[in-house]
Amino acid sequence: MTDAPQRRRGAIALTPSACTSCMICVRECPVWCIELTAEKRHDPTAGPRGRSTLELTEFRIDYGLCMDCGICVDVCPTDALAWVPDTLAPTVAAGDLTLGKQALSDIAVDSGAEGNVAHSASDDVS
Ligand code: SF4
Ligand code: SF4
Repeated sequence: MTDAPQRRRGAIALTPSACTSCMICVRECPVWCIELTAEKRHDPTAGPRGRSTLELTEFRIDYGLCMDCGICVDVCPTDALAWVPDTLAPTVAAGDLTLGKQALSDIAVDSGAEGNVAHSASDDVS
């Protein structure tokens, strides 16, 4: 079997705890293949005015559309997205090419990418 090309990028992994739901990757993806949903959480006990954060509830990448440009990884301010050398399993069902938060997170955990994030979403204060 032929070795994979050296410039091959692999798969994109997500570390959900580092994602601030800022939507930058969603807006910058040239083919609009990233979707996310988030819910606002407010902790009234944190400081004089409390603290509000966005909690990521779902994150999807449609690899049927993704063209491996890497823009989402480059623009993510918290390194929640990262390239890992994994190869996605082939499939004949188009729906199976969309990976959700859990699957993308599993890729991060399995590859060790989870430990390389810049900071945790819980570090953000608003
Ligand atoms: S690598 Fe894929 S998901 Fe990321 S910005 Fe490019 S097309 Fe979109
Ligand atoms: S993955 Fe990064 S760029 Fe995308 S919403 Fe989360 S923090 Fe923002």
